[in-house]
Amino acid sequence: MAVPFADLHLQHQTIKREIDAAIAGVIADSAFIRGSYVDAFEREFAEAAEVKHCVSCANGTDALYLAMKALKVKPGDEVITTAHSWISTAAMITHAGASVVFCDTEAATFTIDPAAIEAAITPRTVGIIPVHLYGQPADMDAIMAIAAKHGLWVIEDCAQAHLARYNGQMVGTFGAAATYSFYPGKNLGAMGDAGAVVTNDGALAEHMTMLARHGGLVKHQHQIEGINSRLDGLQAAILSAKLPHLAAWTEARQAAAKVYDAGLGQIEDVIVPAVAPRRSHVYHLYTIRHPRRDALAAHLKANGVQTAINYPVALPFLAAYQRLGYRMEQFPNAYRDQTQILSLPMFAEITRPQLDEVIDLVRKF
Ligand SMILES: *Cc1c(COP(=O)(O)O)cnc(C)c1O
Repeated sequence: MAVPFADLHLQHQTIKREIDAAIAGVIADSAFIRGSYVDAFEREFAEAAEVKHCVSCANGTDALYLAMKALKVKPGDEVITTAHSWISTAAMITHAGASVVFCDTEAATFTIDPAAIEAAITPRTVGIIPVHLYGQPADMDAIMAIAAKHGLWVIEDCAQAHLARYNGQMVGTFGAAATYSFYPGKNLGAMGDAGAVVTNDGALAEHMTMLARHGGLVKHQHQIEGINSRLDGLQAAILSAKLPHLAAWTEARQAAAKVYDAGLGQIEDVIVPAVAPRRSHVYHLYTIRHPRRDALAAHLKANGVQTAINYPVALPFLAAYQRLGYRMEQFPNAYRDQTQILSLPMFAEITRPQLDEVIDLVRKF
């Protein structure tokens, strides 16, 4: 039995009529840029994310840029983030005008290690960007305590963690702002690029809105120099159609993860994803560790099971960051993980026979 890594087509089949109606509505209204569909999605997503304001934008990468620009980072400022993430998190620190400082991850959760943050703080540090990687929140109590102690802002990168909670509190509600991606493969995905930045701070939301819309809230009144980072009407209507399903899709991912945990947990050499106390995990990715990762991936592929490595090279070791001169010994956990991590098929519609097939193949290996 072939098991795909994800199956966007299958999900589409289950909501095809709702999506078709949403698209038809936008076309009938010619509401392609801005307009009622974008406004409606911003309201609905703010409610779902339990925040006051949602500023939609073109993608999750721009969301990081907008948040940092609105927080007025400047050359010489240092922003701390995790060694283990998608490159956007770090690259936008540079594009916003600050310097990137990487920290190692915790040994078990793949999220940033608060002790490493504390050690990386200098008089130039202005903020921290934790990433709720794979769908598990970072240790927000510890991170917010460090931020308060040193007077730093926090931007949560929630691109992989829609609806995850820490201590019962929704991710994205701890820091000054939080960023989301609606890339098609994310837990809430558009049919193209889309993103948002959320905040409870009305002034910050207004500033980010201006930045994203050519520097003004009213046509031809440019208060500042902005960029063009808009969510389009079609993507907004598609996201509004999908949003009511997100809670059930999340529960389906969590149920699939339970099956994996039970089936893989006892197999020698397999380390299933650890979920720390007080954190919920929404399993954007179900990522195991295995000492012979490449051979295991090849075995699964030969038997029709798709896997992925998220990500093959930790950020400090990418060519893009060679200039920073980091050494592997500074990031023992992120370095070890890049050689051992393997993401298994995970999507809301994955079936029990598909999960059993993956478990069986891993056991045989
Ligand atoms: C997907 C992702 C982003 C970027 O989102 P895009 O919408 O693809 O620009 C940023 N950070 C993390 C952790 C991501 O997974």
